[in-house]
Amino acid sequence: MIPTLLPTYSRAPFSFVKGEGSWLIEADGRRFLDLGAGIAVNALGHAHPALVQALCDQAGALWHTSNLYQIPKQQELADKLTAHTFADTVFFTNSGTEACELAVKMARKYWYDKGQPDKTDIITFSGSFHGRSSAGIAAAGSEKMTKGFGPLLPGFVHLEFGDHDALTAAITENTAAILIEPVQGEGGIRPVPDQCLKGLRDLCDEYDILLIFDEVQCGVARTGKLFAHEWSGITPDIMMVAKGIGGGFPIGAVLATEDAASGMTLGTHGSTYGGNPLGCAVGCAVLDHVTAPGFMEDVNRKAGLMRQKLEGLVATHPDVFEAVRGSGLMLGVKCKLPNGDLVQAGYEQLILTVPAADNVIRLLPSLTIEDSEIAQAIDRLDAAAAALAVA
Ligand SMILES: *Cc1c(COP(=O)(O)O)cnc(C)c1O
Repeated sequence: MIPTLLPTYSRAPFSFVKGEGSWLIEADGRRFLDLGAGIAVNALGHAHPALVQALCDQAGALWHTSNLYQIPKQQELADKLTAHTFADTVFFTNSGTEACELAVKMARKYWYDKGQPDKTDIITFSGSFHGRSSAGIAAAGSEKMTKGFGPLLPGFVHLEFGDHDALTAAITENTAAILIEPVQGEGGIRPVPDQCLKGLRDLCDEYDILLIFDEVQCGVARTGKLFAHEWSGITPDIMMVAKGIGGGFPIGAVLATEDAASGMTLGTHGSTYGGNPLGCAVGCAVLDHVTAPGFMEDVNRKAGLMRQKLEGLVATHPDVFEAVRGSGLMLGVKCKLPNGDLVQAGYEQLILTVPAADNVIRLLPSLTIEDSEIAQAIDRLDAAAAALAVA
């Protein structure tokens, strides 16, 4: 008999009932050190007082009105996001995959309105992840995500991650956009070097192509800048955001320049819940917090500390771990043993990590993780690796 929950997930047998900062408390009272943070969602940890306050204040005042009316918190969040980024305009969604949908529509409509209706192709890269909608899976293109779900949305050109020559060769007069994660998340914490992001920008300018960044996982201070592409000094035309911006409340966004957004005129897109008062109130609180003086410096300091300690861990367990990679507090450890075994061994030590492709375990702690918690995380990973090495 089919379970009453559609069985699409493989779930660990924990039922968490409470969260406090970097900690998740199981129904039986055990305290787990959470280095997954809901897959880079709980940017400020669990139950951050400022976010609880923002949500409760809004919940007591007004939950939902629809986009038939002005939504002051939505306007406020758009103003904040545009003030802090390359973008001139923002559309709010409920998730990353919905942001992907709009990014694709926006890019195609841009060229359509410019009198180039055949300029619809979007170049993407192996190992990428852009959500589970029809556009999202077609964009990623992996067999694992697309098999059996055809016919797929056409117009995606899939290239090997990091193959510069293939990229230049693949561009045609019908290339509308290049879509890329500045740091691949699901693909195994693979940063795109700054030089390559600059090269992509140049290529897009040269051939009249829109550059779309998917910062759903790497954005919102995760890498020690508000958005990961800021390290490279270049900017995209369109950017997808979700996960961390809501700190655990479902909200996403598409940010764009005025030019790139020019096709999205009255009536061309919409969402019932997108930009609702609850999500936007929390989003404002998250953004205020991560852009406050000193916050990003602290993320970078802790990222350096954690990376250094992880390098030490890899050196201690050369048969278990291969290398550390990533950016800021978006870290991956490539494993020599199966990454699933490491995640499992971590559970035994009451530490939560997240598997990714390429045999990597992801460490995506709350950006508010304390130095003492980083030390505990390393101790627990050390014990997990030691237990595996013995087994
Ligand atoms: C999680 C993720 C998405 C999809 O976001 P959902 O909110 O799960 O729809 C898209 N792109 C990237 C890079 C992601 O990490």
